[in-house]
Amino acid sequence: DQEVKKIRNEKQIRVSAFDVPKPVLSFQQCGFSSLVLNILKKMNIVEPTPIQSQAIPAILSGRDVYGIAKTGSGKTLAYVLPLIIHCLDQPHIQKGDGPISVILVPTRELAHQVYLVTTQLAKPHNLIVKEITGGIKKYEQTKELKKGCEIIVATPGRLIDQIRLKGTNLLRCTYLVLDEADKMFDFGFESQVMSIVQAIRPDRQILLFCATTKRAIENLVRDQLADYVRITIGKVG
Ligand code: ADP
Ligand code: MG
Repeated sequence: DQEVKKIRNEKQIRVSAFDVPKPVLSFQQCGFSSLVLNILKKMNIVEPTPIQSQAIPAILSGRDVYGIAKTGSGKTLAYVLPLIIHCLDQPHIQKGDGPISVILVPTRELAHQVYLVTTQLAKPHNLIVKEITGGIKKYEQTKELKKGCEIIVATPGRLIDQIRLKGTNLLRCTYLVLDEADKMFDFGFESQVMSIVQAIRPDRQILLFCATTKRAIENLVRDQLADYVRITIGKVG
């Protein structure tokens, strides 16, 4: 316990919740397969960043997570690594099935970045990732989505469009990531984000990441996250 306190102090990790799993000091400690560890090695990722060292064990334990850490602190892998494990634990998809996991982001550019990172980890595990953002013809996107996938990276508006067009559905989604939730709200996607959160089955895990805190986000966390762990790294505005 003193040991855990010391690690959290050194890494400037603050948690507010009971029974939070202790931070990991290495990726090996997370129980990842050698396939995952080898992919990380190829990506030149050696040691977890503070947000990764606390968020990964919390997510793997099944808890919802509200993570606040500044830009560049490694939030993507903090949710993508447990996402891969979560998807591998679920039954195989059939043609036309909706995703097991959805990652919502505020912009097309970020969607593409997150898509690339996720694909690096997903592809060697035979998990299919699809990107759903504007700028692509809706009809062709619908056709492509109907083939099914395990993971979707999307901007909120276009995901809602594709659900309406029956390109995909949220029936199997049990792992929802709201990345840069603060920006999504700033960009006016609050009601779209809320409608997706509310459409998802109750036995889901929600992982919400921000660089800053704000009232509307705190409200979402309070109302929609269950038994969650709030993790703050360093000083955040
Ligand atoms: P954030 O989402 O918090 O802004 P990112 O997930 O985009 O941060 O990561 C920022 C950069 O840090 C990326 O280039 C990423 O490859 C790198 N990175 C992530 N995790 C690690 C790690 N454990 N060790 C070294 N570099 C890392
Ligand atoms: Mg990010």
